Parts: sequence; C-alpha cells; structure tokens
Amino acid sequence: MIELLQQEMLKEGYRLSQVSIEHLKDLETEIEKLNHNGYMDKNLYSWLKGYYNFSLPETKHNITSIVVVASLSPTVKVFFRWKGKRIPLIMPPTYLDFDREPKEIKKRICELVGISNYHFVEAANLPNKLLAARSGLGVYGRNNIVYVPGLGSLILISAFYSDLPCNNNNWVEIQRMKSCEKCVACVTSCPTGAILPERFTIKAESCLTYHNEFWGEPDFPEWIDPSSHNSIVGCMKCQIACPQNKEHTKNVIELEEFNDEETAALIEKRAVEDLPSSMVSKLERLNLHIHYHYLSRNLKALLEKEALWNLS
Ligand code: SF4
Ligand code: SF4
Repeated sequence: MIELLQQEMLKEGYRLSQVSIEHLKDLETEIEKLNHNGYMDKNLYSWLKGYYNFSLPETKHNITSIVVVASLSPTVKVFFRWKGKRIPLIMPPTYLDFDREPKEIKKRICELVGISNYHFVEAANLPNKLLAARSGLGVYGRNNIVYVPGLGSLILISAFYSDLPCNNNNWVEIQRMKSCEKCVACVTSCPTGAILPERFTIKAESCLTYHNEFWGEPDFPEWIDPSSHNSIVGCMKCQIACPQNKEHTKNVIELEEFNDEETAALIEKRAVEDLPSSMVSKLERLNLHIHYHYLSRNLKALLEKEALWNLS
C-alpha cells in the first residue's frame, strides 16, 4: 500500500516516506542527545521542549507508523506602503502553509487509500526535519536544512500517525547532501556566520531565524549587522544561495498589501483588538497573526534597511 501511495503522491508532486512507530522514541532520544552533546543553544532547547510532543494521539486505531510527506512550499511576497513607496518584503516557505497544507495532504492521502481502510492523524509537533532525514526522505544540507531529491529545501515537511502497516525498517543514518562536499555557497552567504564549515550542526544562536522568530527580545542584538535582515520572519539567504534550489526559487506568490496606515499600525504594534477587522483578516490569511508580537521589530529592521539603501 505504501508503495502505491508513494507513486500516486509523486504524480502530484509530493514525496512520501514511512517509518515504524517504534522509532518515535528514537526521535526524542536524538533531540536529547544533541542537547547533551552541546549542539543546542539552551534557549532553543527549552523552546523546543515545549513545542515537541512525542506522545501518541488518542485514537481507537492501532498506530503502526508515521507517514512523512514533503511538498513544495512557496515564498510569499507581501507589499507594505511606507513613506510613499510600495515595498515588497518576503516571507520564506512554510510560514504560510505549515498548518493548512498538512490538512490538504491528509485529505488527499485519505482519498487515495480509501478513508475507511486506514487512518491518519496529523503529527503537528514532531521534529519533522529529523524525521524526514531518518526516514530516508531527505538529507541535510550544510545549512542544516533538509533537502528532498527533486524538491530542494524550499519545502514543507508534514507528518501523520497512521495505522498503515509498516513493512520496512527505514531508519537511515543522518547524511549530508553529496553536493555539499565541494560547496560553501551557504557558508559565504550567511550574514551572521551561523554555518560553520567544520561542524555538522549550525550555530543556531547565531542564525537570524533564532533572533527574529524564537527570541523574544524587543531589539536585535547589536552584533547583528542591520543589513542582514531579509525576511519578515526567518531568513532566506542560505537557501537562495544554494545551487540545489536553483529550480525552485521562482516559486513565489504575491499576497496582500498593507497601506500606509496599516503599516504604521504594525510598526507601532497597535493592540490587535484595535486593528480594523480587514487588517486582522490580512494577517490571518498570511498566517502572520501568530508572529504579531515581534512583527513590529522585524518590520522596522527591514524598512530601516530599505531607507538606508535609498540614502546610499
Ligand atoms: S549551498 Fe552548497 S554547501 Fe550549502 S547546502 Fe547547498 S549545496 Fe550544501
Ligand atoms: S537562515 Fe540565514 S542566518 Fe540562518 S544559517 Fe541560513 S543564512 Fe545564516
């Protein structure tokens, strides 16, 4: 059944793998090991501890496996009117579709296998990159992002608990992408020096994403060069520079525009309940409402950078 599902999903652009549910514990152990060996920043580790959930969901079905699916995920261009200009800013893949796309994928899988035969429950809080790598779906790039053959790294990984039988023992060694052997494009493009050529894991606490997404400080640390900022949330630099993503960087959609007044409200971090409902809807359509508490800080950094460019 899994082979058939893989073939059918492949026709629709998805890549799919499966691991036995017995490896759920291994995922947890692996995260603990990374932390124990000093490869994880303590703040990131404590955030992830709260985010990951390695408990099986309550269901009357006998869960036997985890099905892992990779899908292309678009970069989103959002426009902000500011000081007489229409400024396009980008939001990297996955921020838009991380909660909607898995539901679509589940629906499609159920249609393909026949909903009455097998069951799928979204596993929303697993370390999906690690799961993809261990299930053989992808390999790690030097930038610690998972690359799936044919799709590159501008992807979303979704996971589903299932009673679909698992006849393989997929649990492959973590591998680095072969193309990384003679390439340092991500190392040289990283604006904060987070990718260390001599180390397998990046220095997460130096990564822009750590500071503009996880880290709740009102201002960025002084050591971050203001010209580094490039995304509304997250960072695209190492993925755009990667030759393995060449074919996929054009997967960009344009969504939403904030007028001058709305942009000012975002920068001022006006209370959400004081925002017009039309503006809240825009934030929700972009999935930016969940990042609202630091959107002001990130936006200011990007718009200030824009102003600097215009002066030079
Ligand atoms: S830019 Fe080069 S080194 Fe970095 S992930 Fe891509 S192929 Fe690997
Ligand atoms: S996401 Fe940005 S800051 Fe983080 S490693 Fe990649 S290029 Fe560097």
